[in-house]
Amino acid sequence: MGRIGILGASGRMGRAIAQVCREQGIDVAGGVDRPEFGGEVAPGLSFESDAVALARISDVLVDFSAPSALAGHLAAAQAAGAAIVVGTTGLQREHHHAIDAAARDIAVLQAANTSLGVNLLAHLVRQAASRLGPDWDIEILEMHHRHKVDAPSGTALLLGQAAAEGRGGTLDALNRFDRMGVAAPREEGTIGYASLRGGSVAGDHVTIFAAEGERIELGHRAENRTIFARGAVRAASWLAGKPAGRYAMTDVLDLP
Ligand code: NAD
Repeated sequence: MGRIGILGASGRMGRAIAQVCREQGIDVAGGVDRPEFGGEVAPGLSFESDAVALARISDVLVDFSAPSALAGHLAAAQAAGAAIVVGTTGLQREHHHAIDAAARDIAVLQAANTSLGVNLLAHLVRQAASRLGPDWDIEILEMHHRHKVDAPSGTALLLGQAAAEGRGGTLDALNRFDRMGVAAPREEGTIGYASLRGGSVAGDHVTIFAAEGERIELGHRAENRTIFARGAVRAASWLAGKPAGRYAMTDVLDLP
C-alpha cells in the first residue's frame, strides 16, 4: 500500500477519504485544495502548496475536486510518475481524452462511482438490458443533495452506459436528457434521465425497465459518503504500483 495524496482535500469527499484513511491506518501524504479553502481539512492532514508538490511525495493521488482541475491534476501525476484515481464527475469528452492520454504514461483509474453496490448494480443493469427487448423502455432516476453541481449524476450516466452496452448500442445515440418542449411520444430504444436535487441525499439511483403492463426497478441508495470514500481508498491501494493504463472499478472489484 502506497502513500495517498488527496486532491480536493477540503471537500465533502476529500474529508471523508482522509477520515477513512485515518480509521484504516493508511498513510496520507497530504492534501491540496483551492487556496481559499486551505486549512479546513480533516485533522492531521497537512496541506501541500500544489498538486505537483503533493504528487512528488505520494504513490497515488485521489482526485474528488472539479472537472476544471482535472488537466492540472493529471499533469502533476504524470510529472511525478504517480498513479491517480479520478472520482470527479461531470467529465466531458475532452476530459476522457485527457485521461486516455495520461494513461499512456501512468496508471489512471476513473470511476463515476466507487461503491461496490453501484458497480454491481451496473452489472445487473447490463444483463437485464441485454435480455429485455427494445419494447422495455429504460428510464434512470437519481436524487442527490442540494449542493451537487452536475446533472444527470455521473452514476446515472454509468448506469446508462451499462444499459446501452447491454442493448448493443452507444450511449451518445440512445441518451435523452430533456423532454421539455418535445411534443412527440417516447422513441423506442432510447434511455431517459430524471434528476432530483434536495436536502442531504448522498445518492439514490433507480433504473426502471418499463413494458406494457409490468415494470422492473433496479436501484441503489447510498446512505452516506463513507461507501464512496472506502471504495476510493480501496481503488487507490489497488492502483498504487500498477503499470500505465486506464483502469475501472470493475478491475478492482473483479466484476465482469
Ligand atoms: P465538494 O464541492 O464538497 O468538494 C470539492 C472540493 O474540490 C472543494 O473543496 C473545492 O475547493 C476543491 N477544488 C475545486 N477545484 C480545485 C482545484 N483546482 N484544485 C484543488 N481543489 C479544488 O464536492 P464533493 O461532494 O466532495 O464532490 C467532489 C466531486 O466528486 C464531484 O464531482 C462529485 O460529483 C464527485 N463524487 C464522486 C463520487 C464517486 O463515487 N466517484 C462520490 C461522491 C462525489
